[in-house]
Amino acid sequence: EELGSVFYMLFVRIFKKNKVNLMQTLKIINKKNIALVAHDNKKNELLNWIIKNQKDLINHSFYATGTTGRLISKQTDLKVICLQSGPLGGDQQIGAKISEKKIDMLFFFWDPLQAQPHDPDVKALIRLAAVWNIPVACNLSTADFMISSPFFKEGYDRFIPDYSKHNKREI
Ligand code: PGA
Repeated sequence: EELGSVFYMLFVRIFKKNKVNLMQTLKIINKKNIALVAHDNKKNELLNWIIKNQKDLINHSFYATGTTGRLISKQTDLKVICLQSGPLGGDQQIGAKISEKKIDMLFFFWDPLQAQPHDPDVKALIRLAAVWNIPVACNLSTADFMISSPFFKEGYDRFIPDYSKHNKREI
């Protein structure tokens, strides 16, 4: 037992010396909180993908930007919580939920061929997904890869980056 704790101390020292933070993970259960956003030219793509995969999606929980959510609620059996429309703050609402650890994955079909009035929000949403290590599908093939991953049906331990150094920094 003593030897174990010596090893543990040694481990912690090596981690501290190399400034590697100890891992922190968040268990994502098999029922996931999924965020859906699609720009106007991509709404049909996302809708058709959802219809095609409806039986694998039906048991999860959904948040969506207003118009995307309305469309999906109308045309499928998914129960979607509709936030504000994207340009009116919906993307930011989803970003806020990501930072509160309330979203497990994001399907964000943004339009690469059209400037959006809320382009900064688009960037901010993708940024927050990277900050919190959220899986993001920005196109159909990534969406296919994500839904066919075993992690989609099973649980997954999502690594949460350690931001304690940032939070405790001296100003
Ligand atoms: P919408 O928003 O679903 O309300 O159209 C999507 C977006 O443009 O972010």
